Amino acid sequence: STSFAQYLQQRKLKRQISKFTARPIELRSDEVVRGVAGLIGNTPLVRINSLSDALGVEILGKAEFLNPGGSVKDRVALQMIDDAERRGLLRPHTGSRIFEGTVGSTGISIATIARARGYDTTIIMPDDVAAEKVKALEALGAEVERNLARQRAAKFGEPDSIDKSDLTCKTHQHLHPYTFESPSQSMLVTSAPQHLEFDSDGSEVGSGSEQGEQRGFFADQFENKSNFDAHFAGTGPEIWRQTSGRVDTFVAGAGTGGTVAGTGQYLKSMNEDIYVAIADPEGSGLYNKVKYGVMFDRKESEGTKRRHQVDTVVEGIGINRLTQNIELALPILDDAFRITDAEAVAMSRYLVKHDGLFLGSSSACNLMACVKLVKQKGWTEGKTIVTILCDSGTRHYSKFWNDDYLRKAEIPIDIQIIEDLLASP
Ligand code: PMP
Repeated sequence: STSFAQYLQQRKLKRQISKFTARPIELRSDEVVRGVAGLIGNTPLVRINSLSDALGVEILGKAEFLNPGGSVKDRVALQMIDDAERRGLLRPHTGSRIFEGTVGSTGISIATIARARGYDTTIIMPDDVAAEKVKALEALGAEVERNLARQRAAKFGEPDSIDKSDLTCKTHQHLHPYTFESPSQSMLVTSAPQHLEFDSDGSEVGSGSEQGEQRGFFADQFENKSNFDAHFAGTGPEIWRQTSGRVDTFVAGAGTGGTVAGTGQYLKSMNEDIYVAIADPEGSGLYNKVKYGVMFDRKESEGTKRRHQVDTVVEGIGINRLTQNIELALPILDDAFRITDAEAVAMSRYLVKHDGLFLGSSSACNLMACVKLVKQKGWTEGKTIVTILCDSGTRHYSKFWNDDYLRKAEIPIDIQIIEDLLASP
């Protein structure tokens, strides 16, 4: 049994301890970030040693896979949500729901931030997206709708299938009974779930939903300028600072176009001589648009199974329609490089073997384009090329990093492709 004196002693001790632990910690803003949003951005630039040493040219990758949501898309999701809150389209912790059509990365980024701000998320994606992305979304509590009628629409945007109304119509069951707003349009989902009302001039249709306060927000990354802004205000300035302005070329792939448009425009605003090029997977129309001014090249597409379709194992880049963010990129694109699936696969395996870098498919495309650019220019020294390492290989186990899958798809896994290119004159 405890004596009264011991009891008092213990109580005093406890009080001292609690006083100590309750003392507010002074957060050093340079050492501690506030919540998950604080982990987004300010990613390091990593020198790709194998390629840089082989080429004599500095090849630097922006390590976007280090973002908390695992990809470059965290920046965009944060900017879109912050901007929507500023405009009163979303209010934290009021049961609002965010909707987005995406191949996964943007959805994961939105779901991550949404959790921290008390929003629900509905993500609409094609059926054939790598399964680990769906798992990540589900773990983050997002509602996943995978059954688009034209399942590849959200991924590649065939012009007749990805128009916004199509995508939003696919979401309509989920929207009910939310008041639905996006930066480019607003609408009310009426009580009849089959019926959607768009408003052509962008003003709200109707007045409130049955449940009154709940709001829906269509993030709309393809058309939303916050996407561009995230890179113009973040990725671009970071690269400029990290290289002390000594960057000659910026290379990126384009899915929505936000990365290349925002980063490229910022870099050109600092130095108009900076060369901007895109890495474009097979079947995407951007390469032709940049090279020849037209998105679709009949001759090239006639031989393929389905015209206008980007049929590639690469996820996240390639597009066949002009979006607002692509439009912002077009004036600053100096060149484009076509990257085959075999080249992207070879590059990814080469980087693991020589650098210990385990990267996703779009990162591999970007680095392949860097090498092609250096070879095309004949550069052998004194240049710095920066590109984006969009996400890690862990997002791609079921397709791009699945050798069985590649064999079935008849995509070779051959590192020699890279060795030969590096050794070529
Ligand atoms: N890589 C990955 C893995 C992506 O998810 C995306 C976004 N679709 C991109 C690259 C392309 O970025 P952006 O949309 O800014 O063109």
